[in-house]
Amino acid sequence: MNIQIQNADILLFDRGEKPFLRRCDLFIREGCIAGIGEAPADFTADRVLDGTHRLAMPGLINCHTHAYMTLMRNIADDLAFDEWLFGNISPIEDKLIAEDGYWGSLLGCMEMLRSGTTCFLDMHMFPGQSARAARESGMRAAISRGLVGSGDDEGGTRRLHEALSEMEEAKGDSRLSFLLAPHAIYTCDEAYLRRVTQAAKEQGLRLHIHVSESRNEIENAKKQFGASPVEYLARIGLFDVPTVAAHCVHLSEEDIDILAEKGVSAATNPVSNCKLANGFAPIPKLLAHGVNVCLGTDGAASNNTLNLFREMGFVSLVHKGVTGDPLAVGAADTLKMATLAGARALGLEKTIGSIEVGKRADIVLLNTDCPQFSPRNNLISALAYSANGSEVDTVLVDGEIVLEHRAFPGIDEERVRYEVNRITEKFGKQE
Ligand SMILES: [Zn+2]
Repeated sequence: MNIQIQNADILLFDRGEKPFLRRCDLFIREGCIAGIGEAPADFTADRVLDGTHRLAMPGLINCHTHAYMTLMRNIADDLAFDEWLFGNISPIEDKLIAEDGYWGSLLGCMEMLRSGTTCFLDMHMFPGQSARAARESGMRAAISRGLVGSGDDEGGTRRLHEALSEMEEAKGDSRLSFLLAPHAIYTCDEAYLRRVTQAAKEQGLRLHIHVSESRNEIENAKKQFGASPVEYLARIGLFDVPTVAAHCVHLSEEDIDILAEKGVSAATNPVSNCKLANGFAPIPKLLAHGVNVCLGTDGAASNNTLNLFREMGFVSLVHKGVTGDPLAVGAADTLKMATLAGARALGLEKTIGSIEVGKRADIVLLNTDCPQFSPRNNLISALAYSANGSEVDTVLVDGEIVLEHRAFPGIDEERVRYEVNRITEKFGKQE
């Protein structure tokens, strides 16, 4: 289908990757951005979308989440990390079956689309269910089965096998890509981490892992390995494969040098880190060292939303507040983190992350005719500091309309809400 978006404010990036706006038409041919301001030759629109009072921006990229965890939203809050995880979340996860994971993931996709996210990097425990939910919703997804194991134990071997066969089954679906996700250094031993790294090299896959999230993790790594988590992972060769490292909260100067040198992408999850009282990642330092910093929400059990607009505002404000430097992380930085940097982290920078001729049309249309975007003094600032996601009106992924005037053409929303309520009744915590 060919789509023309008429007369919208389009968010573009200049050569220095600074965002700016241009009001013009946007032309989409067969899922691809074919013209900005100028129609390509022989273009006829099948659909024309009115861009009046609309801002068109590249779809946001959530670089670390566990979409199925929407099932555990608001179920265990205001608790210490260990009590939250081991006392509440893990016992509930043990009760879940694959089908539950599907409904939770689909709810996550709905929430992400409605707040402007078109692509997410998922770490999950239910093979096939994230891909199924992504397909159902029309979202683009980078899928990674969470891997836990030691040496060549049976469970770890099975999970690695599931990860590879899930990838095989989804071959040919251009909106899905795959990574391998060794969960963390405290849930995978060295032999297993080396094994997964080797499998990634053989398959040409990226890696996705939790790194340096809590103070405990750092202390234990120092005791056990005589190294920080980052030093340890570098030492065993894991960073020789392009890696998305989620969290990176507690880093030394040496750690930051390693991440920069190895080209590791740091996926920061500021709301989750603050909520669990784990601290803040040193984002200004990471940016100054040239580390690719992208943005994630983490799961809804530790956030409690999957809303990247909230994350963009928060990452900027928290670093201004903590460093005492109002220039620490600005609006342009956060917009880049949520788009271009995310695409880079996933190896999709030629496909998505910005509105450019030749890229796939993953585009969000925001309604700027709302109080929080008025007056129109600076729409870039509005995106970073005023938006809350409710401005998202229409969303395209791969040139397909997957949300129109906030309604899902392909999802039975009421059914999803019914199913997640039914599932969560078994946790016995509903009001
Ligand atoms: Zn996580």
